Amino acid sequence: MIEKTLSIIKPDAVERNLIGTIVGRFEKEGFKVVAMKLQRLTKDDAKDFYIEHKARPFYNSLVEYMTSGPVVLMVLQRENAIAKNREVMGATNPAQALPGTIRKEYALSLEKNSVHGSDSAASAAREVEFFFPELVRGC
Ligand code: UDP
Ligand code: MG
Repeated sequence: MIEKTLSIIKPDAVERNLIGTIVGRFEKEGFKVVAMKLQRLTKDDAKDFYIEHKARPFYNSLVEYMTSGPVVLMVLQRENAIAKNREVMGATNPAQALPGTIRKEYALSLEKNSVHGSDSAASAAREVEFFFPELVRGC
């Protein structure tokens, strides 16, 4: 099934000039970039976006980090995009990510792990609409 998923190139990767490298990697894996913008998230954006983690000990630090510099927000489309994106990203903790995954190659730490990807169909629907409401309204 052709799916859309939300991808974010996080501040650590934007800061290290990895936008082209990471977008190129997704394109090589057969994803089509169907929406894209560079943006600095507000505290409210980051808090709302990660609301599922509100009770977790890393939440405040995560919000600080995600607002520390610009991010690239993208909607990626391909067959089985949601699971495939998670596979290409690698495990949340780069120490556990498989060789060749984006996080294994570029992440700095468990927090500064370079990319975000929606983790389910429900998350993808919510997250695409969160940053690209115009895309959803048009469908
Ligand atoms: N995170 C963290 N410490 C943790 C777990 C997660 O700093 O112990 C950060 C990390 O940047 C991660 C984000 O919070 O990507 C969201 O966590 P989640 O468990 O949803 O991981 P993901 O879906 O990004 O792999
Ligand atoms: Mg997640």
